[in-house]
Amino acid sequence: MNFGYYMPTRVVLGRNCVTEHADLFAPLGKHALIVTGKSSAFNGALTDVMTALNAKGQEATVFDRVTPNPTIPVVREGLALLRSAGADFVVAIGGGSPMDAAKAIALLAEQDRPDEQIFAGGYAPEALPMAHIPTTAGTGSEVTPYSILTNDVRQTKTSISSPALFPRVAFLDGKYMAQLSPQVSLNTALDALSHAVESMLSRNAIPLSDTLSEEAIELIVPLLGKAQTGRMTLEERDTMLYASTLAGMAIAQSGTTAVHGMGYALTYFYGIPHGRANALLLGETLRLCEEKKVRKLPHVLAAFHAPLDGVTSLLDALIGKREEIPKEELEAFAARAMMNKNIKKSVYEPTFDEVRRIYLQSFGYDADEE
Ligand code: NAP
Ligand code: FE
Repeated sequence: MNFGYYMPTRVVLGRNCVTEHADLFAPLGKHALIVTGKSSAFNGALTDVMTALNAKGQEATVFDRVTPNPTIPVVREGLALLRSAGADFVVAIGGGSPMDAAKAIALLAEQDRPDEQIFAGGYAPEALPMAHIPTTAGTGSEVTPYSILTNDVRQTKTSISSPALFPRVAFLDGKYMAQLSPQVSLNTALDALSHAVESMLSRNAIPLSDTLSEEAIELIVPLLGKAQTGRMTLEERDTMLYASTLAGMAIAQSGTTAVHGMGYALTYFYGIPHGRANALLLGETLRLCEEKKVRKLPHVLAAFHAPLDGVTSLLDALIGKREEIPKEELEAFAARAMMNKNIKKSVYEPTFDEVRRIYLQSFGYDADEE
């Protein structure tokens, strides 16, 4: 064995951990920009953060205009508010969308650049300090060095990747998800599951990331049926949140692979939620791995405690009716996906024909038919 692993985020987990560990906000700064969507005002998370900040005499300005699949204009708006308020640290509350917007705001606050340079990489390891409070159990963004933004120039979603994007601290409390809808509960769980599986099938996987992935899959799979109904106890919410953070820690090392690379087009052009987009493609991707006799596949299946057919049937049952997408569009998505660097990171490195086949078969077409 020969590897290194870097994950500098302090993770605190437990009921009321935000208010009970209010001291962890104190070293971050004097004035927080709270980056969030609309639900945090109703699920208790915003109140808890305000209580924690007030306890230590820290000021706060709320930016609650982040929408799903955040865009550069939204990031710019948050950055302008941060500057006018004089905020010196960032608190993210929400799903992946507010967390990713917050990361980009914290990064650009220290290293601003023109819009067309945002995805160009080469950032110095500096951003404003961040605390993240996930209120969905899916993206793991609270422990990853990635911010994924809508890229209207390339008509896809693109990741900014930099160690500067690791939050200083992540607070995990499942109580904020008590009212999370069945759809969001399931779609986000499928995102976490996809992270764990994709990490194992990444060229950059290491024994430690595999351990994190296997544990995440073991914890997520038995809860998927409950996520689908949205009827989960708070303890089950905590478990799903813990598992999604483990999967996030895995992709923090390995990155995502072809499934995410293919899923972005489904979200950009058809508005399919991110986790569902991955799940739609995961079954056919695993079939390709079997065909290519990928060495890691049996380890993935072992974590599911199911054979390949069992895993694909489970995914089918969770997905339900698939979206109708014309064949020509899927073929165009295959050409786009090949330009995504995630494709090459997969141990099974799919060819264009294989990517095309995954797209077509995932939406009920016969890939061999003209
Ligand atoms: P999301 O877009 O953040 O949230 C989905 C919906 O759920 C929103 O309408 C949101 O409303 C609502 N919501 C969030 N928490 C809630 C709660 N506790 N109770 C009730 N409603 C709640 O979805 P997501 O799946 O968590 O994040 C997806 C994004 O993350 C995508 O942009 C994806 O590309 C990205 N992602 C990032 C990483 C990474 O490592 N950085 C990894 C995977 C995915 P409000 O927002 O209005 O509150
Ligand atoms: Fe994801």
